[in-house]
Amino acid sequence: MSDCIFCKIVNGEIPSNKVLENDKFYAFHDISPVKKVHVLIVPKKHVANIAHLTEKNEEYVDGFLPFVRDVAKELGISKSGYRLIFNTGSEAGQTVFHMHAHLLGGEPMGWPEV
Ligand code: AMP
Ligand code: ZN
Repeated sequence: MSDCIFCKIVNGEIPSNKVLENDKFYAFHDISPVKKVHVLIVPKKHVANIAHLTEKNEEYVDGFLPFVRDVAKELGISKSGYRLIFNTGSEAGQTVFHMHAHLLGGEPMGWPEV
């Protein structure tokens, strides 16, 4: 999608601080971290959010969780723990409409935290 900032990050038009990528997914540090570790994980192909997944595009989010596992390993937070958040839709606070997971960690976190 031409006017999507995360598509531009994936294709290199906008710089990012990359953590890991494979053929389907790209992980990069959030520009405005809310925890010591705050990484965004996106599918390389554009889809607005979970609500927009269909039979046609769910195939390219297959493998998302194994990729998250690998990103956490790369960041060294596999043992200490981490949290994965998908803000989906405006009431949930989604501001960038290219599906992404926030991977948070690197420090103790309370629960519930709303
Ligand atoms: P959300 O509110 O769930 O849609 O999250 C969007 C996230 O994207 C926010 O945490 C922003 O800080 C982050 N963000 C926006 N622009 C950039 C950028 N150019 N590079 C890295 N993170 C960004
Ligand atoms: Zn996009």
